[in-house]
Amino acid sequence: MAQVLDTDVATFRKSFSGTVLTEGDADYDTARAIWNGAIDRRPAVIARCSTAEQVAAAIGFARSQDLEIAVRGGGHSFAGFSVNDGGLMIDLSAMRHVSVDPSARRAVCGGGATWADLDGAAQAHGLAVTGGFVSHTGIGGLTLGGGIGWLTNKAGLSCDNLEAAEIVLADGRTVRASADENAELFWAIRGGGGNVGVVTSFVYRLHEVGPIVQLGFFFWGLDKGVEALRFARDYVDTLPDDVGVFLAGLSAPPAPFVPEQHHFAPGYALLIAGFGAPEGHAQRCAEIRTAMPPLFELETPIPYTDLQHMFDEGAPWGILGYEKALFLEELSDAAISVFTEHLPRRQSPLSYVPIFALGGAYARVSEEATAFGGSRSARYAFNIAAVCPAPELLAPETAWVREFWSALRPHAMGSGSYVNFMSEYDEDRVRASYGAAKYDRLARIKAEYDPDNVFHLNANIKPALQPA
Ligand code: FAD
Repeated sequence: MAQVLDTDVATFRKSFSGTVLTEGDADYDTARAIWNGAIDRRPAVIARCSTAEQVAAAIGFARSQDLEIAVRGGGHSFAGFSVNDGGLMIDLSAMRHVSVDPSARRAVCGGGATWADLDGAAQAHGLAVTGGFVSHTGIGGLTLGGGIGWLTNKAGLSCDNLEAAEIVLADGRTVRASADENAELFWAIRGGGGNVGVVTSFVYRLHEVGPIVQLGFFFWGLDKGVEALRFARDYVDTLPDDVGVFLAGLSAPPAPFVPEQHHFAPGYALLIAGFGAPEGHAQRCAEIRTAMPPLFELETPIPYTDLQHMFDEGAPWGILGYEKALFLEELSDAAISVFTEHLPRRQSPLSYVPIFALGGAYARVSEEATAFGGSRSARYAFNIAAVCPAPELLAPETAWVREFWSALRPHAMGSGSYVNFMSEYDEDRVRASYGAAKYDRLARIKAEYDPDNVFHLNANIKPALQPA
């Protein structure tokens, strides 16, 4: 890779209307830091952009200097795709504007906004779109790869709700993509990651949600694992689409509703979020506690924005992370056995195993409608996440994730996974995630819009070979 000369950076700094940061600048270390504290990389240049023109100028400068480009949205890639060593980081963290048109039920958001930004603005009007479970995650990477959250079954993935986007391409052009404009590009950004350009603006369709929703939180100890997971699996299948589900192996939080003797106890949790009538929620909570009495529980109304913040502290900035995931067609008894055998072996109390129930609106989108790298017939996205507060825990915890994953693999839908849950780039697994037809279509779109693979720090799609 090229070495950039100080004089060239100085010239760029003079001409660039955004902010240029290099080693030694006061903000440099903050700007290069990403969520995963295990990643410590030093870009030669950070271009903090607040307009599409600035993004185009940064791409142009990087290409003229042969610098590798990393694009940072919310900075939550476990793999660290948003920062590189010795290249140019396009930092979108200043592009966090959100404007909501309540009558059209539409939100327009900057490419570096977080879910907290979007949720806050949309909830002022009782509106929301499917976003991640942790509010400091970026809308950028999460939406481009798919987007699984509380509202998946009610409203589909985040990317299913994308109406349009503004994209800066590798050649510096800024284009709009929607069903009517650059339709192939629009297809590719709904699941194909950041492969085709830098999205400076996302337009979402919003749904009526809250502002008060209903939460039920049920927790069982390790000894009840098999029973609780079998019950949860069968019960989740009976739930209507306006109930969000979060099923996980994790540590009990040190929260006021948790009896002190159970703080940090390992176990299994079923959380349901009711977006419909409160009475229906109360009945569901009664059904759960009668059928499978929990160690402790919480049933409460909660503002949707608080629901979205609920897991924030469990996955703080700077923690060390590694994850590996699979899609499951069903949570079979065999998969549950693997789950209950491996969960107790984790060493970090923050590591957790969320299994995201997929159905409802998610399943009603046709396979070809978007580039999402997962089948619409998958019932669960099963994620094994090492989250470590101390560096010495990361190696054993990574080994735990890999062993757990290998044991679960025979019970999954192939080796592919949700591409946003891949800590390591593995070309075969990226291909397996998309399947041949989607991968080949993405590769053709990539060849048209980014033939030199300028945007390769992602679940990378190799440009299709062009006929000579
Ligand atoms: P970044 O690291 O900034 O970017 C990730 C990738 O997207 C990079 O390749 C980057 O170049 C690209 N990118 C980002 N923004 C843009 C843009 N505007 N234009 C072009 N390319 C861009 N996923 C879920 O679906 N549901 C969850 O509930 C969920 N919870 C999570 C919780 C935590 C704590 C973490 C760390 C991750 C979680 N994820 C979840 C995974 C998440 O979807 C991915 O990590 C996602 O890539 C994060 O996006 P980001 O913009 O914050 O990350």
